[in-house]
Amino acid sequence: MTQIAATSEMAFDGRAFINAQRCWAQSGARFDNISPVDGRVLCEVARCDGIDIDLAVQAARQAFVDKRWRGLAPASRKRVLIRFAELIVAHGDELARLETLDMGKPISYARSVDVNSAANCIRWYGEAVDKVYDEIAPTPEQALALITREPMGVIGVIVPWNYPMIMAAWKIAPALACGNSVVLKPSEKSPLTALRLAELAVQAGVPPGVFNVVPGLGAEAGSPLALHMDVDGIGFTGSTRVGKQIHIMAGQSNLKRTWTELGGKSPFIVMDDCPDLDRAVQTAVGSIFFNQGESCNAPSRLLVHRKIKDDFLERALQLIPKYQPGDPLHKDTVMGALVDRAQMETVLSYIDKGCQDGARLIAGGAATRVETGGFYVQPTIFDGVHNDMTIAREEIFGPVLSVIEFDDVHEAVRLANDNIYGLQASVWTRDINCAHGVARALRAGTVHVNQYDEDDITVPFGGYKQSGVGRDKSLHAFDKYTELKTTWIRIDSPI
Ligand code: NAD
Repeated sequence: MTQIAATSEMAFDGRAFINAQRCWAQSGARFDNISPVDGRVLCEVARCDGIDIDLAVQAARQAFVDKRWRGLAPASRKRVLIRFAELIVAHGDELARLETLDMGKPISYARSVDVNSAANCIRWYGEAVDKVYDEIAPTPEQALALITREPMGVIGVIVPWNYPMIMAAWKIAPALACGNSVVLKPSEKSPLTALRLAELAVQAGVPPGVFNVVPGLGAEAGSPLALHMDVDGIGFTGSTRVGKQIHIMAGQSNLKRTWTELGGKSPFIVMDDCPDLDRAVQTAVGSIFFNQGESCNAPSRLLVHRKIKDDFLERALQLIPKYQPGDPLHKDTVMGALVDRAQMETVLSYIDKGCQDGARLIAGGAATRVETGGFYVQPTIFDGVHNDMTIAREEIFGPVLSVIEFDDVHEAVRLANDNIYGLQASVWTRDINCAHGVARALRAGTVHVNQYDEDDITVPFGGYKQSGVGRDKSLHAFDKYTELKTTWIRIDSPI
């Protein structure tokens, strides 16, 4: 059976998942879920609002209060989370097809990257949770001071559409492992896999009410979650614009702990002593066009030394045919559809702006595959970009690379840091002093040296500056979903 035939037999369920029950919004409101692959309506989705959020928060609170989840030993929660991860892998083909149909990424990546990373993340936090110890402080003898971590309570999670399962997993895995209850609001553009994950979680043994998924629009369902007086923490991934609102809403309500993973405009610096130009070219091109350029950490600013720029671009242009968008459901496609018409129009308007501002379009620049009814943009490269142009300053979130020349390392670092974002960066050089010096000088949460592709659940992910507050992944993520308690115990020792 081909993958396309398999998708025609799929059932889509856009109802919310509250207290382990599928349900429509209390208001009865729904919205159409349109596939960017070909513009068809996949299904209706519950258009939840504050009433549904409140029901989900109540269910989550009840589960927290009666300890049906946090009362389990860490080793028991571990077993459930590992089963959850195994179920994700077992349903990998189905989840990958849902993800591709919902947000347009190539099916081979949805299967090999999204499904496996989400499962790996949930397994990793499950395995970690019974290996983390609390502390005893080095106090004087007459007292004992215990420093313990406690689950926070009800965690609201709000995520975007570019890696729907992975972004959700990065938050729900550490939050659940610590014993919290979760209310997840997926993006209205890609709600289907999150809803399926919640069903699989319950199948794995996560008790009802512990993990709820409430789909809906940002202003209608996301805001009530961020403003809710009985939500103890928010894990948010999305744009810097909305992230700022989330912090404000936390301040306007109960000062809930607020963690934000936001936008990026990551610089990819290639010095003139780059040790392997072919690999640098392949990495830069492959990374900006991966996931249709819809990655927060996409290296969208290529800073290349003037001496090697022409050579670099000549090699980059040879790779362009490989990245022409194709059918996302075909196993060989490497670039799929943008998430929706609005995103496609945003990307095209940035391309127009780049041309108006005087940048030189040397590849792509247009919509393609319009006959499919889907939303596709050609891989696009601008040469002659200045760092103060809009296409160099703002996050485009599409397959658009801006090429900026520099003359020396000081200029490279100044240009790299001259942006409101600070998510990731890369420097390519064979000089170890230059590599270390530049890595230290770059204001970014992650710096790569002579590569851009390494990633692992064991390392923190997050940004400096307006790329957000806090870190996902690694053991550091436990800090986001636990409160630290100090307990003083007086010791009147008889000896
Ligand atoms: P977005 O900010 O528009 O939406 C993100 C989520 O917030 C969605 O679920 C949306 O419904 C919700 N939302 C929107 N308005 C809201 C409001 N007023 N109140 C509460 N919730 C609201 O972002 P997007 O377009 O879905 O995603 C793209 C952005 O996500 C990019 O900026 C990208 O860089 C960023 N991102 C960051 C990371 C990271 O780890 N730093 C990872 C992936 C994506």
